[in-house]
Amino acid sequence: MAIERTLTILKPDCVRKNLVGEVTRRIQKAGFDILAMKMTRLTPDTAAGFYAVHKGKPFFDSLVEFMSSGPCVPMILEKENAIEDFRKLIGSTNPEEADEGTIRADFADSVGENIVHGSDSVENGKLEAAYFFSEQEVVANKS
Ligand code: UDP
Ligand code: MG
Repeated sequence: MAIERTLTILKPDCVRKNLVGEVTRRIQKAGFDILAMKMTRLTPDTAAGFYAVHKGKPFFDSLVEFMSSGPCVPMILEKENAIEDFRKLIGSTNPEEADEGTIRADFADSVGENIVHGSDSVENGKLEAAYFFSEQEVVANKS
């Protein structure tokens, strides 16, 4: 299996619930290396840009409002098979359908406020990482 990178965001609900430490611990325990991370706050425009693929869907406006409602913590993660393994770690989009023990099953309140983002492909992961981080901010590239 290939070493891959994925982009996650610990969403505003994760920050509000003081779960940044717990979720980060689970991510590291699962073997992901953190290559970059920061706390930032999306504007409605930057949130809409990040989720542009969902534009026009019924949940788009509430998603943009939620994602810009407070600080979030994007991270670039690296691991063998990172894209698939991270989606397994977080569980289904809807926490009611997420497998037991996954981050969303354990902590998410609803399909909208579901604690974490995970890239759905290597290609999208690259685009999403570049949305949040410059090359200089990917610390592990410097060694
Ligand atoms: N979302 C929502 N309602 C839905 C589907 C999605 O509010 O019916 C939100 C939710 O926060 C989700 C995000 O939009 O994480 C992106 O949706 P996607 O289908 O890409 O889910 P994900 O890849 O995050 O599991
Ligand atoms: Mg998605």
